Parts: sequence; structure tokens; C-alpha cells
Amino acid sequence: MANVNVITISNVTKIFRMGDNVLKALDDVSLTIESGDFVAIVGPSGSGKSTLMNMIGLLDIPDSGSILMSERPITGLTDDDLSHLRARSIGFVFQQFNLLARTTASENVGLPMLYSGVAYDQSWVEKILAAVGLKDRSEHTPAQLSGGQQQRVAIARALVNKPLVLLADEPTGNLDSQSERDILDILVQLNRAGITVVIVTHEQEVTQIAKRVIRMRDGRIVSDERQTPVFIEGMKAIDSSTASEFHLYDGGMPPRETGLKGHIRKAKSYTSEALRAVTSNKIRSFLSVLGIMIGVAAVIAMLGLGEGAKKTMEKELAGLGSNLLSVYPGSMRPGIGPGSNAVRFFPDDITALRTDLTHVTGLAPRVSGKGLIQFEEKTWSTSVTGTSNEYAALRASLPDVGRNFTKEEETARARVAIIGRTVAKNIFGDKDPIGAEVKINRVYFQVIGLLPAKGSNGWQDQDDLVIIPLETAMRRVFGYDNVHSVDVQVDKTENMPEVEDQIKTIFQERKRIPPEKIDDSLTVRNMADIQAAISSTNQIMSLLLSIIASISLLVGGIGVMNIMLVSVTERTREIGLRKALGATSFDILSQFLFEAALLGVIGGALGVALGWGIATIAAVMTSWPFEVSTTVVSFVTGITAMVGIIFGFWPAKKAASLQPIQALKYE
Ligand code: ADP
Ligand code: MG
Repeated sequence: MANVNVITISNVTKIFRMGDNVLKALDDVSLTIESGDFVAIVGPSGSGKSTLMNMIGLLDIPDSGSILMSERPITGLTDDDLSHLRARSIGFVFQQFNLLARTTASENVGLPMLYSGVAYDQSWVEKILAAVGLKDRSEHTPAQLSGGQQQRVAIARALVNKPLVLLADEPTGNLDSQSERDILDILVQLNRAGITVVIVTHEQEVTQIAKRVIRMRDGRIVSDERQTPVFIEGMKAIDSSTASEFHLYDGGMPPRETGLKGHIRKAKSYTSEALRAVTSNKIRSFLSVLGIMIGVAAVIAMLGLGEGAKKTMEKELAGLGSNLLSVYPGSMRPGIGPGSNAVRFFPDDITALRTDLTHVTGLAPRVSGKGLIQFEEKTWSTSVTGTSNEYAALRASLPDVGRNFTKEEETARARVAIIGRTVAKNIFGDKDPIGAEVKINRVYFQVIGLLPAKGSNGWQDQDDLVIIPLETAMRRVFGYDNVHSVDVQVDKTENMPEVEDQIKTIFQERKRIPPEKIDDSLTVRNMADIQAAISSTNQIMSLLLSIIASISLLVGGIGVMNIMLVSVTERTREIGLRKALGATSFDILSQFLFEAALLGVIGGALGVALGWGIATIAAVMTSWPFEVSTTVVSFVTGITAMVGIIFGFWPAKKAASLQPIQALKYE
């Protein structure tokens, strides 16, 4: 076993500069530690013991001189190479224990296995914990353990990857004398089991148990002697048969775990670390994701309601008919009285439109007036529209019960009526209205059909009306001689402007209106224009929505970045510790990115819930349908995770690039 050099340090110098002060913490130090040795480094405070220990542990880089690990030089190795070497070859025990808070003993002990790529094995962890005398303490957190017990957990953690050398810097400095003896006993037994031990101490008593004592002063080695160990009174090591417990590695280590399995295990570990970090500061985490939450809530609510509003509008637009021109007398332009120059439409004008217009697929002249409907004892006041039988097709109003009236009925001025659902409900109740005789303004009519239900458009009930043939309405019910408006359906949208011009020309000629006055005399409303206006309004809404979303996600992301910076600063020592235990920069980066992504997703989830709530309430109040698709929800979750990762990247990068020794010394 002996004769292999674990560590060789040659002419190592380490200089600390503080302003103009230059301090040689190590001054041309050379030292070789053989496998199986038990070395105590002793000296007054500030003599460079810890600095030397950090060199041996590959935590710090010398200013000059060289270091060999297992007889191989470490110069030229990257930070990550050094991390891998530390993970597999070196076990650290610190004066301050440096256990992860809120983390059980067994999780602490298992941590280096994550970084060294050894498959996690609970029984292996339990075996090591039992060896240091903590058989029943594996689920205890550091706060539930005494100092001596915490240091034993730290020793178990140092042993889990079977290091070549165990480095202990003042391991008993914070302990009572009984705990000190227990810890020293463990170190002696480990050494008897074949592990190289290097211990730093300033206590004379402790140096007695080592096989070799190196004395330091002012950054130099002043003596280096071999000795026969003398055990302190009360140490079990006095009885040399107690080493048995530490034949830990006789049965072999757990297998290495690489590839996908290893990545999955790391991802799981980072997730639970992230959850722990986020939940241990609930209020802080909540406040940091508030920006994302509000942004997402606004987007979800508006998207949900916007979708509902769009559906409602689309339904209404479909009800208006497609490619429809509506012609009204008079001007709708502001500043001109609607009636002043208004033309009047007479039946022969309609006939002219029918014969002269091209590209027209349907034409529905209309008159309307108030009508009192009577059936048996019931009466109902509603609006009555007289029109051609084409109206039903033009306005998506074909009766869904019964039938439309025919051209023949129209010319014969038949007394037939199609009634809306509201009218039917109010005068017929549950009775079947089809075929029933009703009176409209005291004229008998037969009900032949029911208009399809259209619901309310927000300001009026679209089912509260009765439709009868045009001539019947004009001659038999109202006594009108003119038509109130005309709906013209055009075959193709692109022909609508042409037809609009034709309509105007026909009226100019027939009514002798000068061309410049035509727009004061009649209005042609293009339904396609209205539809286009509405859809462009929708587009503007979507654009505004995405601007709001982007701004709030930006603000939310800055919130996450801010809290991640705080988190990294707070956990600088933890980062140093993880690096000492073998974590690479990428491991640290990943861990913090997981945390940032989790914050983002939490913000997103809270935002979805809040937005959903708001939209549901708003939907009830407006009676608009409200829809949030799972696509939207998963999209939002993905986006917020991305926001977390993007804004968490800089803090995580900062954490990943910390030097282990600086991080460990951070106060
Ligand atoms: P000790 O023997 O007490 O463990 P150290 O090795 O910690 O001594 O320190 C050796 C000397 O180097 C001390 O004078 C200390 O003040 C100085 N020193 C250690 N680390 C730093 C640092 N990061 N910056 C400046 N001086 C340092
Ligand atoms: Mg020290």
C-alpha cells in the first residue's frame, strides 16, 4: 500500500495582495504525502495551514510551484477537471461542518455521489452513517443534530466516494472534548482501514495521534517528523481492534451511473433543491413572481374573454349575412340630417334594381313597423318586418321549424307569418304555433314557420320579431307606399364596390340627383366593410395583448433575476461547498437554472389560476362565453419557464463561475 505518493507539492508559493500589503501565505513549500499516512499539520494561527490544505485539496491554485496528484501533474487542468478529481479522490471535513441546512443527514452524505456519478444507493449511505455512529440519525436535519453529530455526518459525506485522502481542517475546533475524542477515533480507525488522513490543528494534544507531524510558521515548513502515535485518554483507538467498522469498502462501491440515468438523477435532484429553495422562502418567492403572475393573469383573462367576444361577434356577423349591401334612404354621415335630402324607395325602384344590377344573387326590400300580435287571450307587441322571401337566405334566417313563404304567396299578398322565438314563447307558451291563426294589428295571419334562435346581440333581443311578405305588410298591415331599405347580396366580395356604384347610379338617374349629392340622399352600407373593421379591431386587440404580455413578462423576469441574484449571494458558501464536493460549473449552472425556471412556472401557474378566476367572473357578468384552451395553458407554462431560464441565466452563470475557495470563505 505504501510508497505511492498521493500528493506531491514542490516549491509552492501563494501570495495574497491586499492593497500595498503583499502576504506570502505559503513560501516555497515542498511536501510529499504517501498513501496510508496520517499527517498532522500544526502551527500558530495565520501560519498558512489552511492555505496549504487547500492546495492539497485542489481547491486553490499556487502562484508558483507544482502539485502532483497520484503522481500526475495538475497544471493545465480545467476547473471542471479539478472538480472531477476532487469528487473521486478527496474527502473534505471543515471546521464549520458545512452541511446543507434543511437537508437530512442521508441526503447530505449522498450529495457527492451525485457529482462523482456513482449510482445513489441508500443502503450504502446508511452503511457509512452507521460506521460513524449515526445509525438512527439518517433522517435528521443539521438543526436536529449536535455539533459532534454534524461533524460525523460531514465525515460520512467525505467518505462516500471512497477518497484516496481525507482532508480535515480543524475538524474538532468547534467541538466539546468528548465529541473531539469521538471524531479523532473515527479518523484513526479510517487510517487503520487504509485511508490517507491529513489533519490541520493548532492543538498540541491532537498532533500526538498522528504518525507524522509537520510544523508551520509564517508560510514555511519548519519541521517534519515521524512519531509513534499516542492516543488521548478516553479514545477507543487505544484498543487497536476497533478498526473493524471501517472496512467499508470491502464489499465494493455502488456502481457508476452515467448517460441518461445520471442526467435524470441530476435533474431530479435539482428539482427538489429548487423546490426546497423556493418553499423555504415562500413570501419572498411569491413576491418575486408577482410580475409574471399579474402579466399571465392579464393575458389569460383577456385571451379567454377575447376569444369569447370574437365568437359572439362572428355569430352575429354570420347573422348579418355575407357579401351584403344594405341600402337606406338619407345620409348616415355626421352633420347632415338623416331626412333632409332622403330619397324614397318605391316598388318600381326595386324592380329597376332587380333588372339593372349585375352580380346580384339576392334582393330583399324591407319595411318595418310595430305590430300587436294576438292569439286567443294573449297579446304581444313586437316589431314586424315585411320583406321578400329571399330575406331568410340573405340574413341567415331560414325557419328551422315550419317553412319560409314562397314567391307566389308574396305576389298574392298572402297572410302568412314567420315568428321569432320570443314572440312564440310569449303568445303560444308550450303550444305548437305552426298552423295557428294569429292577429297582427287586427289582420288574421297563419303562422307557417319559426325563425332560428339568435339570442341577444347585447342591446336588443333578435328573436323578438315577426316576418311577413313585403306586399302584405305594405298594403294589408301598415298601409305604406314606400320601402324602407333594401338588402342586396353580391356574388363575390370583390364585386361589392362595383354593385355599390351601380346602385348609386340607378338612383341618381331615377331620382335626378346630382352626383355630388348622392351620398346625402342614400347610404349604402357594406357589411363586408363592417366585418373587415371588426377583424382588424381584433388584430389590434391581439397586438395590444402581446405588447402587454411582453412588458409584463419582462418586468416579471427582472423580478426573478433580482431574487436569483439574492439567492446566489446568500448561498455563496453552499456553492463553494458543492464545488469542493465535486460539482462542476455546469452542475451549479443547472441547479440555479432549475430554480429560476421553477419560479417562472410558479408565477405562470398562479397567473393562469388568477386569470381564469377573473375571466370566469367577467364571463358571468357579460354573458360572453369564456374559453381557455389547454394549448394556451401549456404554452404559457412553457413561456414562463423560458422567462425564468432567460432571466435566471446571468445569476446562475455568476454562481457557476465562483471559485470554490473564495466561495467557501465567503461570509
Ligand atoms: P491558518 O494557518 O490559520 O490556517 P491561513 O492559511 O488561513 O492560516 O492563512 C495564512 C495567511 O494568509 C494569514 O495571514 C491570512 O490572513 C492570509 N490569508 C488567507 N486567505 C487570504 C485571502 N483570501 N486574502 C488575503 N489574505 C489571506
Ligand atoms: Mg486555518
